Amino acid sequence: MPLLLSAATPATPPGAAELNLARAVLKQLVELDTSQTAGETTAAAEAVAARLREAGLPAADIQVVGPTAHKKNLVARLHGSGGRRPLLLLAHLDVVDARRADWSLDPFKLVERDGYFYGRGTQDDKSLAALWVAIVARLHREHAALDRDVILALTADEENGPDNGVTWLLGHERRLIDADLALTEGGGGELKGGRRLSLDVQPAEKSYVTFTIESKNKGGHSSLPEADNAIVHVAEAAARIHRHVFPLELGAITRAYFQRMADIEGGSVGADMRAVTATPPDAAAAARLSKTPLYNARLRTTCVPTQMQGGHAENALPQSARVTINCRVLPGHSADEVARALVGVIADPAVELAQIRSMDASPPSPLPAALLATIERAGAAVWPGTPVLPILLTGATDGRHLRAAGIPCYGLTGLFVDVDDIRAHGRDERLLVRSFIEAHDFLGRLVSALAVR
Ligand SMILES: [Zn+2]
Repeated sequence: MPLLLSAATPATPPGAAELNLARAVLKQLVELDTSQTAGETTAAAEAVAARLREAGLPAADIQVVGPTAHKKNLVARLHGSGGRRPLLLLAHLDVVDARRADWSLDPFKLVERDGYFYGRGTQDDKSLAALWVAIVARLHREHAALDRDVILALTADEENGPDNGVTWLLGHERRLIDADLALTEGGGGELKGGRRLSLDVQPAEKSYVTFTIESKNKGGHSSLPEADNAIVHVAEAAARIHRHVFPLELGAITRAYFQRMADIEGGSVGADMRAVTATPPDAAAAARLSKTPLYNARLRTTCVPTQMQGGHAENALPQSARVTINCRVLPGHSADEVARALVGVIADPAVELAQIRSMDASPPSPLPAALLATIERAGAAVWPGTPVLPILLTGATDGRHLRAAGIPCYGLTGLFVDVDDIRAHGRDERLLVRSFIEAHDFLGRLVSALAVR
């Protein structure tokens, strides 16, 4: 009785065509190797351009642009009435290297198994790219009454490399991506043991800056040790830096984070979270929370030794020794401030501090109540009862370049990942298929709420 069956079963659930497109684009993107070693994003940008042309977008609204033949970016635009300035949907096309020998599956083949998508980029950041493509295609197909342009940008060299797509676009083709606000990676959803903890929105991130500490010495024969030793100077300085605790500082985002997280966590941890947001913060509660690396990193600037080199021969006194110090700096603080603090901690004139790369300062984006309410409404439609949590990202995304250029940016993907199963950059990277499907629903609602009048 096929007629009865089809009458009882909705033929195609709403959005199914776009979800199929999102899956197809994800497969295509994962299977195009865009790692640093491959050094190529152009093929992925071209593949998406072809998908968008197939979806009916005019060729004139689809650009594949970039500084070199291999590092191109895709930018596409849906035209709105111009009532408001554009909304930018951003994801990166490049991925961290993945070696076949390290993985139990081929990292550049999308495999669906046990409810997961496996493959390099499934968490970071090709799922988001594929979802943006499907949402843009749907808005176009539906002739959505946009009151602002919606811009899609899929870019190169977010992970590393000389041709960062966002920086290049801001510097060379800003008109293509200039926007009132942007959405990108860096805030997803937190799952723990199958429990949905929070839908995260990330309006700010820490800044990244790296120093070296170095000591030089005249050296000599190792059979005649002297009091002064370059390795010991640097090792002791590194140990002091490692033990140094930067001052506790709760900005508006981290304060809101701990206030909301207190209710989610409950118990003694929840009580500590509440106590740390008091004025003044409870020092004992802060010390207990700081034992968790993620909470510690949200509460203060951190600096940590990450690499070391020293000496030139097994049987010689070291003529030089050097340790790399990587710092993650709270918004509102400069690299110079951190350098001054480190010099004070080192407290050794035989050790010289040098900054080896510039810091991209990233002012926090405001999170107005109306925007937060819009996010909460879209979230509640898909995950009723799951709270929206503003977070300060302890890592870094391309959002910092947009913020520095005056474009407010929010890390907001709705992709739920188990907090104990984060495999971005790691082996056997994977994403729950269910997370992908639900994020498609959530982001579709959110983009409509932000751009359809
Ligand atoms: Zn990423």
